[in-house]
Amino acid sequence: MGTEEKSTVKCSVCPRNCMTDRTLKTGFCSVGEKIKVARAAPHFWEEPCLSGEKGSGTVFFSGCNLGCVFCQNYGLSHDAFGKEVTEKELMKVFDALIKKGVHNLNLVTPTHYAPMLAKVLKEYNSPVPVIWNSSGYEKVETLKMLESLVDIYLPDLKYFDSAPALKYSGAEDYFEYASAAVLEMQRQVGTVELDENGIAKSGLIIRHMVLPGNISQAVKVFSWVRENLPEETYISVMRQYVPFGKAKEMPPIDRRLSAREYLIVKQKILALGFENCYFQSGEAAEESFIPNFDLEGVDL
Ligand code: SF4
Repeated sequence: MGTEEKSTVKCSVCPRNCMTDRTLKTGFCSVGEKIKVARAAPHFWEEPCLSGEKGSGTVFFSGCNLGCVFCQNYGLSHDAFGKEVTEKELMKVFDALIKKGVHNLNLVTPTHYAPMLAKVLKEYNSPVPVIWNSSGYEKVETLKMLESLVDIYLPDLKYFDSAPALKYSGAEDYFEYASAAVLEMQRQVGTVELDENGIAKSGLIIRHMVLPGNISQAVKVFSWVRENLPEETYISVMRQYVPFGKAKEMPPIDRRLSAREYLIVKQKILALGFENCYFQSGEAAEESFIPNFDLEGVDL
């Protein structure tokens, strides 16, 4: 476990640096040493270059090292709902998805399993692109374990300022880590390359879910991206926020994003001159876009 010597089992995989012995108990991320998965199924609501016509092969991992108050997958991330799987069983889960014809393997919230997943991916040698779909709250040294094993990085860049990062995710240092992580991801995979059908083969796509009452974070995040990454960088500006969990009692994030807020963000981002932007329609804020976590695809 961890990025330390193998003889120690204290976990320092992510910026939380719990130093938890995950063979004995769970860390901040709510999981121990075993990989836990809550759902594995084709998903059709990712960005078009990932979902295509056959879907993105999402594998939702249990637990989370960030733990946002507004998490849309609360039972999964905070309560670590899911089933423990061995490395071989996880490879069978991957096989079953690939048999369904998915365009890629999309590892969702994988950060706290990085050392285990690096081992699995090395052995598995996936025939389709592997996506690392993370919160961005990651260490560069941990990401280095994934070099040449991950084809597409799909991180969030959730906050620029430390105040909302602390208030909503208990991670005052979020941007310090996430910005360094994104630069490392760019170094590893570069900008997006598409195949002849418009499906991503490799590259970095940065997501940001616009939070109600916090549109300045979107503008600051994408201004930073514009200054620090190539102009052809792919970005995805999400409007699917729905208040969940504690967020229901935390104004201003106790409501959905207004159409006006999203329009302001969209105009400001377009003015920054990005060439490759995904924007979402208003329908994206329907809860039906959030999958059921019922062990589909895991109980093989
Ligand atoms: S991965 Fe989990 S146990 Fe390890 S440092 Fe991060 S939160 Fe703590």
